[in-house]
Amino acid sequence: MLVMKFGGTSVKNAEAVDRVSGIISARVSEQPIVVVSATGDTTDRLVEILDLIDDNKPGAMAIAEEIERKHIELIKEVVTDPAQQKITFGKVEPEIDRLKDMISAMERLGDVSMRSRDAVQALGERMSAPILAGSLASRGIDAESVDPGKVIATDSNFGAARPDFASTKVQCERELAPLCAKGKVPVVGGFVGSTSKGIITTLGRGGSDLTASVIAKSVGASGLEFWKDVDGILTADPRIVPDAKPLQEITFEEAAELTFLGSGVLHPASIQPAVEAGVPVTVRNSYKKDSPGTKILKTRPSMSVSETAASIAYKKNQALINVYSTRMIGASGFLRKVFEVFDRLNISVDHIATSEVNVTVTVDDGDVVAVLAKELEEVATVTVTHNVCIVSVVGDALRQTAGIGAKIFTALKDINILFSTHSGATTNLSVGLENDRLNDAILSLHRHLFG
Ligand code: ASP
Ligand code: MG
Repeated sequence: MLVMKFGGTSVKNAEAVDRVSGIISARVSEQPIVVVSATGDTTDRLVEILDLIDDNKPGAMAIAEEIERKHIELIKEVVTDPAQQKITFGKVEPEIDRLKDMISAMERLGDVSMRSRDAVQALGERMSAPILAGSLASRGIDAESVDPGKVIATDSNFGAARPDFASTKVQCERELAPLCAKGKVPVVGGFVGSTSKGIITTLGRGGSDLTASVIAKSVGASGLEFWKDVDGILTADPRIVPDAKPLQEITFEEAAELTFLGSGVLHPASIQPAVEAGVPVTVRNSYKKDSPGTKILKTRPSMSVSETAASIAYKKNQALINVYSTRMIGASGFLRKVFEVFDRLNISVDHIATSEVNVTVTVDDGDVVAVLAKELEEVATVTVTHNVCIVSVVGDALRQTAGIGAKIFTALKDINILFSTHSGATTNLSVGLENDRLNDAILSLHRHLFG
């Protein structure tokens, strides 16, 4: 069984659904289980409905009608077989009715509970799955949409429910495996689950990737493919480096680090279940079905140590906070006092560099930085530098290949480096620069490292 997951942009309109249906059709012999997001911006629109009602503002029903129109139109365009169209309408129309009923009820009560929020947000995927199944069936593929609430078991932490792996495995064996065994193609809406009492939950925004990963782990899939609208994971942001190249492979640790450092395509928590279960994971582009995409490996086979860095990530609008104290010389407990302040203000620290009398820390810039600086001044002398970007070169190679550091600093030779970190255990080397040097730095780094 092969799990194929398609994101919202991959099914945003008729042309996209047709393209995706073609991709799945070519893989039927691999026993695919399809996981799909809500079409385009449907989830955002559903959230808008909830927020309007929550704020006692009018307009929710009008958005529901717009969602209805778009989905009906899509069904007519992609579910071309009349009998299949009837089946698809039979599945989608009750969801629309449910949406409208819920809107009326919530407006009457003037209240939106977390539980209702999940029931409403889940509707996008509850419609996209039958539509994609109908499109496949119209092409003669024996596809069937499966209620995600019957597949993904979760706790009742509405809005960010956590999957219960043991129950989900049982449910996958009951709901999905038999369909695959009969040569059918199950299509499951992502993002949605249900509690042991059968109440609908969602896994949090972007949660469809997690659905796919949990299913892949549960069925022991032969592979998990995330079909996105980019060529896998690239050597740099293509908006800055037009000739950024897709990576053939990357380790889970590298992919996770890229996300934390600002430019991941996948959230590490979403792919972890599949990667840890040893399922080969690939990120592919639904708009370029023949490009191979990027493989995410649990660990790099020791024979194929990468000679080059994997990718360049960045974060803009960071603040550099320098804490200086002569009391730090030979003293203990000083760092504790400094970091207590961060803890008290609930500020997450990204990078830290220290010397004997100095600690430099980077954080997301914002109003809280002034508050932070004021409190830190109680313990030490503080200077804040705004308009900083952090550029990070990520790759296992940084740990084990001589000369990469030289390439990085040679690439940056004309740029003033405000700060740098490279810890022993991680796979990144990061530098802090003025925001307006970001593009120059990334272009030059890309030329030196991947050119
Ligand atoms: N449709 C949901 C969202 O937009 C889940 C997903 O697409 O992964 O957040
Ligand atoms: Mg989405």
